[in-house]
Amino acid sequence: MLLKFHGGCQEVGMSCIEFIGKKRILLDCGMHPSTGEIPKIENSEDLEVIISHAHLDHCGAVPFYKFKKIYCTHPTSDLMYITWKDTLNLTKAYKEEDIQRSMESIESLNYYEEKVLDNNIKFKFYNAGHILGSSSIYLEIEDKRIFYTGDINEVSTKTLKGADTDIEDIDILIIESTYGSPLDIKPSRKELEKELINEIAETIEEGGKVLIPVFAIGRAQEILMIINNYMRCGKLKEVPIYTDGSLIHATSIYLSYSEWLNPKVRNLLEQGINPFGEIKKADDTVFNKEPCIIISTSGMVQGGPILKYLKLLKNPKNKIILTGYQAEGTLGRELEEGAKEITPFKNTIPIRGKVVKIEFSGHSDYNSLIRYLKKLPKPEKAIVMHGERYQALSFAMTIWKNLKIPTYVPVRNTILPL
Ligand SMILES: [Zn+2]
Ligand SMILES: [Zn+2]
Repeated sequence: MLLKFHGGCQEVGMSCIEFIGKKRILLDCGMHPSTGEIPKIENSEDLEVIISHAHLDHCGAVPFYKFKKIYCTHPTSDLMYITWKDTLNLTKAYKEEDIQRSMESIESLNYYEEKVLDNNIKFKFYNAGHILGSSSIYLEIEDKRIFYTGDINEVSTKTLKGADTDIEDIDILIIESTYGSPLDIKPSRKELEKELINEIAETIEEGGKVLIPVFAIGRAQEILMIINNYMRCGKLKEVPIYTDGSLIHATSIYLSYSEWLNPKVRNLLEQGINPFGEIKKADDTVFNKEPCIIISTSGMVQGGPILKYLKLLKNPKNKIILTGYQAEGTLGRELEEGAKEITPFKNTIPIRGKVVKIEFSGHSDYNSLIRYLKKLPKPEKAIVMHGERYQALSFAMTIWKNLKIPTYVPVRNTILPL
């Protein structure tokens, strides 16, 4: 059997691995979030694809192809629709019909539910702790037991339980390495929450407005839950929270699949409390005098309704809090690097408000990746993917030091025999 690496090689983006043996099968089929590149798949009609989760870099390229079947978890099937719809609106890369065809090819499963394909291929999904419905994939194929982590967060968050590590024996581990270098050590969730609340409280007390750009799936729900939680306990002054963009739909999907979330979320629901608060769509009232919080997509301030609200940053009383990684070439990165003015549309906006970055990542940091590695059954071989070159190579070295097993860091379009 051969493994062909289409993408996600020494890069974060376009994850896609093909197994070529008695039968071909694909793990993930992502689009590169900054370049828009997609993997080149031949004869997709007789190919089945297993998707780990609903982020663009793992499922964004699916509608470009006609697949025999698409497997994913139940929540992923709903969330993928939002990702595809957003991609269609933003890039016109594919057509509505392509989304419809893809939706009709989906067979969705529960975590731990075994699916048997022909040629005695079996697989099941484990919880990956990264976003709602996100999975690690355990795959048995031609006597090899493969564990593909997908994107993982080993620690529990407000919305999700940490990634599963209690799994069967594995021969080959394919692991992500977003924060794979020893320099990638992040503050704890508690510290991040405190910092977020302090920054919001400071601005509200001064009568200002807080603008929070977020990724629609995952980040938005966690931020909403933290802010609502502090307001409910009286630790943060109650001001209106407005939302805009596809996070509104994503949040309703989070509610529909509440049994997939951290049990604490279910407890709140049973007490009649909506953990994400009442969703109020932002309108022109946000430009009035009163303090408020505006949470909107896109997370990197590149497109999406957040652009409409940037003019609030002319006022030194107001603040923008960036909550995730800001890629090169995005307005978010310009703000992060201290731009004195930005031009989202025709008119240039002077930046007089405060810019703060508090990174709530959905990925394990370096220490958490090592903990994860130690908890998993020891594989015979490891393959490091989904990390920039330095992170991927550095993490391969760490795996070698800890487990003393051969470890590969593939480059794009190469083949590895198993
Ligand atoms: Zn992801
Ligand atoms: Zn990813």
